[in-house]
Amino acid sequence: MAAISLSHIQKTYGKGPRANLVIQDLSADIADGEFVVIVGPSGCGKSTLLRMVAGLEDISAGTISIGSRVVNTLEPAQRDIALVFQNYALYPHMSVFENMAYGLKIAKVSPADIRVRVDKAAAILELSHLLERKPRELSGGQRQRVAMGRAIVRQPQVFLFDEPLSNLDAKLRAQTRLEIQKLHRELGITSLFVTHDQVEAMTLAQRMIVMNGGHMEQFGTPEEVYSRPASTFVASFIGSPPMNLLRQAPGTPAGRILGIRPEHVVLTPGSGWAMTADTVELLGAERLVHAKLGNEPLTLRLDESQKAPAPGERFEATPRDGKTHLFDTDSGLRVAA
Ligand code: ADP
Repeated sequence: MAAISLSHIQKTYGKGPRANLVIQDLSADIADGEFVVIVGPSGCGKSTLLRMVAGLEDISAGTISIGSRVVNTLEPAQRDIALVFQNYALYPHMSVFENMAYGLKIAKVSPADIRVRVDKAAAILELSHLLERKPRELSGGQRQRVAMGRAIVRQPQVFLFDEPLSNLDAKLRAQTRLEIQKLHRELGITSLFVTHDQVEAMTLAQRMIVMNGGHMEQFGTPEEVYSRPASTFVASFIGSPPMNLLRQAPGTPAGRILGIRPEHVVLTPGSGWAMTADTVELLGAERLVHAKLGNEPLTLRLDESQKAPAPGERFEATPRDGKTHLFDTDSGLRVAA
């Protein structure tokens, strides 16, 4: 196993006036055995970053180390990493066993050793009873597990996952997410996992790197990112529905945006902010009330104990103590506590 260190990484595609800076001076230290998720909207540079760690893309500046080695110029095969992609491309004519064994065979690992490694990976992934099947005889989730098995048998220092779950339906995605967590608990291999899905990031990550337009907005635990977002971008990207960002909330200092999560606004009949309910969404155990505070939209998340106002109704509500956030209007960055 190994730590990963990214130091002042830059990536530019193209040259001269057409040059496109897609990663800007990014530094992050990932601890040995840690599971780090890289999350951000499409086009923010997540895959490029992962591919640079894998050695599939050159870096334009900076240093990448895996363990004690600087790997900047090493070929992917020399980096001791294993990649799991969205398109896992199993060999259709080979059995599950042969698919998992193939890379080891090429690397001239002995047949006895291959048997041991594949059997162990298959047991962890609950594929032992499927080893003689062909990929076409498997479900989508099982195929994805074979793809992970192929990575595990290599016993790499680092796992790199590039949106491995995006081809699966919602139920299977949730299940495979749990399997990946279990896998990480059992093997403890340092992992970098790319996704655009903030729920996936929140549930899988020990720490997460939130990216926006080629730079790192925040690197922290899911709890930190949720409860102390470093910028308005993070505040609105993490959490669903997103944090309310109010420019004209009563009592907010000039030049500041007040952030408040929908679950942190409580009904306070007769006092607090007066607003008008617009629409109400029923989501099983809770309701979302979309209201207007002056001209600004504000969403409240109410549980069953609170009576939701009807659309069009005037009502009063107040942010919970200690749950508001302040951001600078110009930079969007968090201010003070
Ligand atoms: P993400 O994985 O977050 O969706 P990518 O890392 O794929 O984002 O892409 C980041 C940016 O780099 C995008 O603007 C994309 O258009 C650009 N890009 C990616 N690959 C190339 C390439 N081979 N040549 C030029 N631009 C690229």
